[in-house]
Amino acid sequence: MDPICQASLSRYTTLKVGGTAEQLFQPSSTEELVNLLEQLKRQGINWHVIGGGSNLLVSSGGISGAVIRTAMMTGIKTIDTNILEAEAGARLPHLAKYAASIGLSGLEFAVGIPGTVGGAVVMNAGAHGSCTANIIENVTLFDTEKFELKTLGLDELKFEYRKSFIDPNKHIVVSARLKLKVDNKDNIEAKTRENEEYRWRTQPIGWPNAGSTFKNPSLDKSAGFLLDKAGAKELKEGQAAVSAIHANFVINLGGATSDEVVKLLADMQNSVMNTFQIRLKPEWKTLGEFSQAEREVWNI
Ligand SMILES: Cc1cc2nc3c(=O)[nH]c(=O)nc-3n(C[C@H](O)[C@H](O)[C@H](O)COP(=O)(O)OP(=O)(O)OC[C@H]3O[C@@H](n4cnc5c(N)ncnc54)[C@H](O)[C@@H]3O)c2cc1C
Repeated sequence: MDPICQASLSRYTTLKVGGTAEQLFQPSSTEELVNLLEQLKRQGINWHVIGGGSNLLVSSGGISGAVIRTAMMTGIKTIDTNILEAEAGARLPHLAKYAASIGLSGLEFAVGIPGTVGGAVVMNAGAHGSCTANIIENVTLFDTEKFELKTLGLDELKFEYRKSFIDPNKHIVVSARLKLKVDNKDNIEAKTRENEEYRWRTQPIGWPNAGSTFKNPSLDKSAGFLLDKAGAKELKEGQAAVSAIHANFVINLGGATSDEVVKLLADMQNSVMNTFQIRLKPEWKTLGEFSQAEREVWNI
């Protein structure tokens, strides 16, 4: 399959930050993905995988090697009355509305999460008191070490808060089987709409962003609350600023660079550390090269 060469990754992330990928591949089926991985292996080209780019900070310095974007693998199949199988690139808002429209409950939480199934499984994305782990029956992925497709059950996926067993440096999610519950369609649709409307009221709609920047340090302390109380809404670095609507959201005012964004994250971390003596950990994943000082923000 042919790549897009020197593809600007800012186009493929919701924060609209990121340099160019030497090669960008967008397989639209498992078969194309597996053929692509064989091709890259033969040619000795290293790769990175992204989905919807909605939880991702990409370095403005660009990415060497190949970026594989699974967002074009969008199939959704009904396997049983209450089981859907969604390919890695299926979008959560679409999936949530589709499930609601056929009277399947369980995905109402996901309607305002603008990522794909692949990213949701890796991150154990969650909201409104539920998360991806609650609806997973199994996940099929390509294990690039063993070089084979594998299906992992719930126990093997080891879901935790915004974390799973899946390592995007080795595993590429191909699809997930979702175990939902047959229920009253009107109620499911009403709950889905309520969750979606809540997002419109509480998040900076219209500004490029990557969702919650930091994880909540504990169940009773949200990162947004701590940042707000620490005065983080005043913070800005270059074209990256903390949203006035939600203190755990960083917005791109236009043309922000990854350097500016990381500086802002460090300022946000420092504000909470100075006020509450709590060190916030970023929820976002990174892609590309970051300096040692920048990597400190992730404590890596
Ligand atoms: C406005 C907004 C609201 C949000 N609200 C929420 C929320 O309420 N709750 C929440 O949990 N998150 C939220 N997010 C963050 C984000 O949408 C989720 O984390 C989502 O699951 C990420 O999916 P993605 O496809 O965009 O993944 P990406 O951002 O593309 O990638 C995230 C990680 O997953 C890996 N990955 C992606 N696809 C694959 C694949 N096929 N195989 C292997 N690895 C893969 C990447 O390498 C990366 O490490 C929000 C984001 C935005 C912009």
